[in-house]
Amino acid sequence: MKRRGLLVSLAVLAFAGVAAARFAPYLYVESWPLLNDPVTAMSPDPVRIAKGGMADDYFAVEELGEGVYAIGEPRYYQANYSYLIVGDKRALLFDAGSGTRDMHPVVKGLTDRPVTILPSHLHYDHLAGIGAGDRVAIVDLPSTRADVAGNRFSPGRYQFLGMFDGLKTPAFEVAEWIKPGATIDLGGRTLRLLSTPGHTPQSVSLYDAVGGRLFTGDFIYPTMLYAFLPGANRADYRQTAQRLLKELPPETRLWAAHCCRRNEGYAAPWLTMKDLADLDRALGRIDAGTLEATGFFPRRYRVNDQMDIGTTLSWIGS
Ligand SMILES: [Zn+2]
Repeated sequence: MKRRGLLVSLAVLAFAGVAAARFAPYLYVESWPLLNDPVTAMSPDPVRIAKGGMADDYFAVEELGEGVYAIGEPRYYQANYSYLIVGDKRALLFDAGSGTRDMHPVVKGLTDRPVTILPSHLHYDHLAGIGAGDRVAIVDLPSTRADVAGNRFSPGRYQFLGMFDGLKTPAFEVAEWIKPGATIDLGGRTLRLLSTPGHTPQSVSLYDAVGGRLFTGDFIYPTMLYAFLPGANRADYRQTAQRLLKELPPETRLWAAHCCRRNEGYAAPWLTMKDLADLDRALGRIDAGTLEATGFFPRRYRVNDQMDIGTTLSWIGS
């Protein structure tokens, strides 16, 4: 009788453990607004940027050459960076920013070409800056098509995660659905859309073969990679890293969506293919159980001197 009681207790504990692990990312995001003071999204402090110039006392604008501009939000607590890539016929804005301040005048000041906004993924800090009347392109995946009702696209609660900033999920028309692998012609220059799941299932990167650049969104950036939010998947992270390492030239420069590099201050955050190889190696060591972690949720692992990766609880392996 006693032994049966013990077995039942162990089974209940195991079930609770698996359930807790499965639901930990959801619990984390739902409890965030309850456990934390409302985030003051914008720092009142003046910003000293390391490169480029300030616009509207909020945006850091940095020219990267060949009609590519990084537009940062150094006063926003997530320090997002969007990228404007200008062609002869049209321009592409990779990520719309947090919406804390209107980015449209800054973009208009940089190009008179028509602008299409392509979000790197559907999180609030990359999507909330989309305004009424914007021309928006979305990656064509079954999961993004499923977010359309009528003729309006609206991401799911756990795709958008607006609870962090108290934002309502947006809804907008999609002007262009772009398939993974497709070439985007801007006139005189092309970009290739790459599906790069890991941070989220819908995450994409943009490859500029002639310029030797990959715009990575949140797949990889300096500071801590978030592999612990709903939809993040460690196995996808590793598969994407290995695919990019195989497909892209080793000198490709990675331009990321969150600042900043260690010891560089506020400047468009960049990494190299070696950093990507370090990420692949760290993920392999996490899988093998040979990399030390700190913290419980997220579990934080050191990748290299520019990056950590935060994962969900160790026993669910994603
Ligand atoms: Zn982000």
